[in-house]
Amino acid sequence: TGVQELLLSRIRDVADYPEPGVMFKDITPLLADPAAFTALTDALAEIAGNTGATKIVGLEARGFILGAPVAVRAGIGFIPVRKAGKLPGATLSQAYDLEYGSAEIEVHAEDLVSGDRVLVIDDVLATGGTAEASLRLIRRAGADVAGLAVLMELGFLAGRSRLEPALAGAPLESLLTV
Ligand code: IMP
Repeated sequence: TGVQELLLSRIRDVADYPEPGVMFKDITPLLADPAAFTALTDALAEIAGNTGATKIVGLEARGFILGAPVAVRAGIGFIPVRKAGKLPGATLSQAYDLEYGSAEIEVHAEDLVSGDRVLVIDDVLATGGTAEASLRLIRRAGADVAGLAVLMELGFLAGRSRLEPALAGAPLESLLTV
């Protein structure tokens, strides 16, 4: 569609970043273009409406940039899921494996409660490790997963199939797949 062409045209490929052999998808040109950023916000807010989400979770850091305007547009709350050690209040945390080593994400425990329907937003779905940990965190908090929405899915990394168990039937919506 026209919106997809617009979004794709504003994502920059950066070779060998952050390490040799990786083609990094840089969304900063999209953020700098108000027409593209608005189109992206509108598309994600439509997904929030369709999934019946009552809260948006944004994954640090680009998930904050995309998720916050979507929450405002949809008229629902925004909850940050952060890397460990950044949130001041009582947290729930979830560790997950990386290619080398491991990582941990956290959410304020009081921000997610039973009865919430949470849509998770991030910029890029790669291996799915980060998203998978966030879905676990949301369920452990007692909330329901309304879905996962990303700007771009890197299809060759098979994040979608990895996420199937954690999604448990909730939709994975990617606006672009490469
Ligand atoms: P995953 O856990 O392997 O799916 O990696 C996803 C996380 O890394 C997300 O939070 C993304 O923002 C980030 N990420 C991975 N690859 C890219 C990329 O090419 N561009 C921007 N972010 C990326």
